[in-house]
Amino acid sequence: MSQDDGSAPLAVAFPESAEQVGLCLQFAAAEGLPVVPWGAGSGVCGAAAGRADGLALDLKLLRGVGAVQDRGDHGAVDVGAGVLGQHFEDALETQGWASRHSPSSIGCSTVGGWAAGRSAGQFSSRYGKFEDMALALDVAAPTGAYGTGEWASGGRDLHEWVLGSEGALGVITRVRVRVERVARARWLRGYRFHDVAAAWEVMRMLLQTELRPCAVRLYDAADTMIAGKGTATKPASSGAGWLGSLRALVDATPALRRHALSLPLALPRLVNGIVQGLSGACVLIVGFEGDESEVQASSAIAAPLLLAGGGVDLGAEPGEHWYAHRHEVSYKVAPIYSHGGFADTMEVAALWSRLPALYAGVRAALGRYGLVMAHFSHVYREGCSIYFTFAGRGSLDVYDAAWQDALAAAAAAGGTVAHHHGVGQLKMHAAARELAGIAPLFHALKSELDPAGVMNPGRLFPALDEKGPRAADVPAVVYGVDAVSRVATLPAQEAAADRDARLAAQGWRLRHPVAGPLVSDLSRVAPDDCRVVGAWATIDGRRAAFLPVPRSSAGPDPRRILPQSSYEALTVPVVPLGAAPVPQGGR
Ligand SMILES: Cc1cc2nc3c(=O)[nH]c(=O)nc-3n(C[C@H](O)[C@H](O)[C@H](O)COP(=O)(O)OP(=O)(O)OC[C@H]3O[C@@H](n4cnc5c(N)ncnc54)[C@H](O)[C@@H]3O)c2cc1C
Repeated sequence: MSQDDGSAPLAVAFPESAEQVGLCLQFAAAEGLPVVPWGAGSGVCGAAAGRADGLALDLKLLRGVGAVQDRGDHGAVDVGAGVLGQHFEDALETQGWASRHSPSSIGCSTVGGWAAGRSAGQFSSRYGKFEDMALALDVAAPTGAYGTGEWASGGRDLHEWVLGSEGALGVITRVRVRVERVARARWLRGYRFHDVAAAWEVMRMLLQTELRPCAVRLYDAADTMIAGKGTATKPASSGAGWLGSLRALVDATPALRRHALSLPLALPRLVNGIVQGLSGACVLIVGFEGDESEVQASSAIAAPLLLAGGGVDLGAEPGEHWYAHRHEVSYKVAPIYSHGGFADTMEVAALWSRLPALYAGVRAALGRYGLVMAHFSHVYREGCSIYFTFAGRGSLDVYDAAWQDALAAAAAAGGTVAHHHGVGQLKMHAAARELAGIAPLFHALKSELDPAGVMNPGRLFPALDEKGPRAADVPAVVYGVDAVSRVATLPAQEAAADRDARLAAQGWRLRHPVAGPLVSDLSRVAPDDCRVVGAWATIDGRRAAFLPVPRSSAGPDPRRILPQSSYEALTVPVVPLGAAPVPQGGR
């Protein structure tokens, strides 16, 4: 979607410490100057775009990676918010640790930016998204500094508010990050499936049998074919197949090369149809890492499941190839611009039960405007994200229309409009609709921390509608078990005995047992675990709903931290009655 023009700011400041950030913010508040925190500027939704009337705070001088504190099954380390991802990883490696937060943008994004936008890395299925790894934050606001998470003091903890707040609640100056020991063993393998639905079943099964793969990446038929995974129609060893030959011909013929992209970009429906019609076959990459024994045990369970689910073993090569090139994939769209086209990506997520509708709906919407392909690379027990790549030709209006339609399709399918790219200007209205219930709370908190309203104004949520969300806009609670996604929507205040008996009668129990009503224990469990998947509540007399989704980056996520008495219903993970107990408090 078109965004503002990213004008050069009035001034750029390079603070070197949290204290200097604080001074800048006080100055800006006194002068009424909008402040845009700038990590590395890799955000793709326009959250950090410059503004001619404001001050840009380039945070890259907030440096320093501390010594890792060994906490037994994991480590913790304090890092300056301006440290670039790859520098962070390099510094950890010298100590024998790794963050395993590995976004494609690891070389051009900062630790503070990851927290501000709820970023996701390529190993999220095992280690969680960045909000799951960020243990504590130091924040500088115009009204003063505060700590969140482990550093919070007093009764109030703003951790879940600041994560995903995109600079609107202050500048994150330091992050305490959960880190992992460098893995001693890794197993990576590719499998070909007849179609995405067959692969989804196996992915879901892998996660729901409590395996903890570090990588689960499925490329749909178009992505497998167009992006040249080369394994959809033939085994990996036989090269890139017909597409490879076609590409070689085009590369060798200058006249063809000049027009190679023009035709498909101009006729997206035709080309989408051809690609889909040729083959539905797609490639799934699965990986495990950790101790030798864990990797062996996990892969010994996973491999037969993958074959039984219809997977054809393509060997180690597709996985090894992806791993070696995993940070390159996002930088390949330049030829499309030079052919006068547009290209973009959109990441959404939904429960497993809604995934087929989300995939079909968004693909159909984008397919009207451009070539569209997708991969599925952030996989959870409850659901999965979809990363669409689309490319087409046309004016800015066409590009905007494609975004509007796709966002509407995602919402209609019950998905979140943002899984890890955040909100910015691009998804501002869609995210505000999704989080209608918290917008008033967010604005109230903002005016407390930033009374002059200078922190990245007008980017994350539009100004508050005076009336707030209307009761009719809030979806009604639908109680019951979603067996596919293994979640149940239950009354939040119900006595444990009644709740557990009702669940048991249907063959289920809570994944994380709670002795009292659900609201009595909403604590975090483990980084790869999501305890509250959805919530319905009444806040200050207004009903609010937080869509049940596996993870979201559509702004802050307070679904676990509202006042206990405000909850009406909660969507929480469940497991079949006979399932083995899940380890609590760790992994
Ligand atoms: C090629 C490419 C690949 C990408 N791949 C991924 C991927 O795999 N996974 C993923 O999650 N994202 C990916 N992204 C998106 C992007 O890297 C993330 O959104 C990242 O979190 C942004 O970090 P940044 O430091 O560049 O933040 P910026 O773009 O500078 O800022 C993003 C937002 O955060 C705010 N902000 C930045 N730092 C702070 C701070 N210290 N305190 C408060 N607010 C702050 C800014 O004001 C802005 O609102 C990719 C982007 C590109 C260009």
